[in-house]
Amino acid sequence: MAEQLIISISGMRGIVGKNLTDSVAHDYGCAFGTFLKYSFGGREKMSVCIGRDSRTSGPILELAVASGLCETGIDVVDLAIVPTPSVGVMVRQLGCGGGVVITASHNPVQYNGIKLLLANSMAPPPEKAEQIRRLFRDRQFSLTDSRNRGKLISNEQTEAVHISKVLSIIDKRTIASKKFRVVLDSVNGAGGLITKRLLTELGCRVVAINDEPTGLFAHAPEPTAENLTGLCEMVKSEKAHIGFAQDPDADRLAIVDENGIYIGEEYTLALAAKYIFSKRSGDAATNLSTSRMLDDIAEKAGGRVFRTPVGEAYVAAAMLEHNCIIGGEGNGGVIDLRVSPIRDSLVGIALILQLMAETGKSISQLAAEIGGYNMIKTKFAANKAQAKKILSAAKKLFVNARLDVSDGYRFDFEDGWLHLRASNTEPIVRVIAEATGEQTVRKYIDAVLKITR
Ligand code: MG
Repeated sequence: MAEQLIISISGMRGIVGKNLTDSVAHDYGCAFGTFLKYSFGGREKMSVCIGRDSRTSGPILELAVASGLCETGIDVVDLAIVPTPSVGVMVRQLGCGGGVVITASHNPVQYNGIKLLLANSMAPPPEKAEQIRRLFRDRQFSLTDSRNRGKLISNEQTEAVHISKVLSIIDKRTIASKKFRVVLDSVNGAGGLITKRLLTELGCRVVAINDEPTGLFAHAPEPTAENLTGLCEMVKSEKAHIGFAQDPDADRLAIVDENGIYIGEEYTLALAAKYIFSKRSGDAATNLSTSRMLDDIAEKAGGRVFRTPVGEAYVAAAMLEHNCIIGGEGNGGVIDLRVSPIRDSLVGIALILQLMAETGKSISQLAAEIGGYNMIKTKFAANKAQAKKILSAAKKLFVNARLDVSDGYRFDFEDGWLHLRASNTEPIVRVIAEATGEQTVRKYIDAVLKITR
């Protein structure tokens, strides 16, 4: 990851003490507060809720952002350690003008970040994100005098509110009747306590590992196969029905089957969608890099899948626009708008347990029913100019494929697809291909590698 402070539509991310300092966080709070005041035309008594993941750098960064917001006259509701999706739920619950999450998601412990949400619980669209960035850069803050400063208010309702929203989209009794044994790995992040409580309410017998929100991650925090060997073993030794893994801010969810086998984050959204499409008719949205499993499931139910550029904000926007019944991203992020427009591991857990309970099938059986694809994700070094050349060479090579150019190039073939996109933050091109059959997917990846040589 780059050594500089990254400012994007979802907020800023950097290395604590190096480029993400308390004064940077304070100024960002001032910029966001100023932006909110301008956009609401100086509405009285605006509040913003703020939460954080479990990183040890979180409390002070949170206070710094809160102090910036208070200086602009905004009241700040402190939610303390909560999952990112919980902040989205509370923004709407409390009628806040916006929300802030102090998190660096799945990045290592030396990182932290500041994620911004508007009143609709979504990241600011690009033009608004640019306005905030400009206010921050130029330090154009609208500060108030001492009488009009905002207050800091603490709120401890988040767990209860979020859990009740999640329970409202499933049937608790059906799940509880199965008495599932579940192993949960929250990697010492923000998800441990609330997710244990949800699972307990669902009548599960929960074995929680790394559930204390210490911010000292027991393993590398991204919920990938190589980082979850401990969870896989625990699922086997506990004879559990399923294992769940969250990232530190609990928006991503990975699944381990009853045999202790990691079945991959791509399945999280697909399995959640399988349940939703069995109950409701409608459409789905996901990004261009996500598995075709979702298209198969939607198609069987008479629905469509809207594809968007990579990024939660794009997916959520498409879901709202098309009134989608389910959406998310292939990195284990499930979005159900009835709860919030944010990827939510608690939503994923509830929908997947409901699917298991209603079908009476094991998670490995359910995964086998929708699988059958091979996916390869890789990347290679390329600066902006090289990336452009590679993409246009690919366009010539795959001239017969259906092409989507909304985020890099995505080529759709009869037997699979290939997505090439240059990273915004690093000098690399990401390559994702999926097809039925290992040889076919290899063929697409090799063709791209040949171009790069
Ligand atoms: Mg995350």
